Amino acid sequence: MNKTAKRGADSKVKVILPGSTIGILGGGQLGRMMAHAGSAMGYRFVTLDPTADAPCGQVAEQIVADYDNREAARELAKRADVITYEFENVDADVAAMLMKESYVPQGSELLYTTQHRLREKRAIEAAGVQVAPYSEIRSADELRSAVARFGLPCVLKTATGGYDGKGQWVIRSEAEIDEAFETLSRARTELVLERFIRFDKELSVIAARNPQGEIRTFPASENVHVENILHLSIVPARIEESVQSEARRLAARIAEGLGVVGLVAVELFLTAEGELFVNELAPRPHNSGHYTMEACRTSQFEQHVRAICGLPLGDTSLLTPVVMVNVLGEHVEPLLERMAEADQAAQRLEVAPKVHMYGKHEAKDKRKMGHVNVLAADVDTALDWISETNIWRV
Ligand code: AMP
Repeated sequence: MNKTAKRGADSKVKVILPGSTIGILGGGQLGRMMAHAGSAMGYRFVTLDPTADAPCGQVAEQIVADYDNREAARELAKRADVITYEFENVDADVAAMLMKESYVPQGSELLYTTQHRLREKRAIEAAGVQVAPYSEIRSADELRSAVARFGLPCVLKTATGGYDGKGQWVIRSEAEIDEAFETLSRARTELVLERFIRFDKELSVIAARNPQGEIRTFPASENVHVENILHLSIVPARIEESVQSEARRLAARIAEGLGVVGLVAVELFLTAEGELFVNELAPRPHNSGHYTMEACRTSQFEQHVRAICGLPLGDTSLLTPVVMVNVLGEHVEPLLERMAEADQAAQRLEVAPKVHMYGKHEAKDKRKMGHVNVLAADVDTALDWISETNIWRV
């Protein structure tokens, strides 16, 4: 159902075979895990990142330079047979130059769309998928009248630059309107007001599309955030089968409508009435898809490599229930100190916690340092292990 075959639709499709070199703009953990998956398939990797010995640089060749350094980007293009990225704020000039001088199957349009909330919402709607009601805001007066229309609370967001809850303000009373407008206006970007969705659950679905037009989606993940940072991904999500298939259908529709090549992560709100609204997109592997590394027949990273290389997409079936828990800076010490105890608890509960660390040098508070995929007979047992270890006290 999630597969649409349009082979041969694009005559410029290139198949990049193992032995070739994949260039990645950005050298963080997503690049690192992409390189791990792709190396196993026989590809070589070169990454561009300003910080020496970056997470991806530890497992691939690295060009150490700023992202907007055109000479360095040109060098990346020279050394790679195909170029991808692992973060969405790629400089538009660099993207255009790489498109001209190299092979970038993902193109630059999806980046352009997802770099800006308003453009992104319009594109999602054009694909026939519902987002939370929103309005572009250009003045405090416009904000006042939009708040009157949507009712309180509602959420004011900057159109660019926001992540992990930054660049947004939940307006709870009329007295906050001026301050919210003034504060977010300092970001010097357009603003957008959204109706507050009283969601029951936050879900995400990762869809992959290759240049031939084949599409596959991964099982939906049920995501739990703490202080706006992803804490848990629970799979299978505790939702009705009809919601599961609708969420996957919407993600496939977005991948098709936006002409995605590679991955697109679709974040959704699910209301108590069973309605789904798309919150936002990410045109790359996503933290909520890390569970696929051991729990699916194909991981999101392998799928991304397959898609950009023009290979047939892999089977996304779930092999086992799993809970992914993020390891932030403050969790590293307890995790390392209590590994033996945590292993004993794992044996008793018959769960397999698979620890992934990203090789970052400094364990700053809230910084994503790694994650654990807890494989278990059911998600409740995986959640029991997480609470028994006393590593994630929230
Ligand atoms: P975002 O940066 O858009 O992913 O938003 C961060 C978090 O804020 C989301 O994961 C939600 O928990 C919450 N949020 C964002 N937009 C809305 C909305 N329109 N209604 C309710 N909650 C929201």
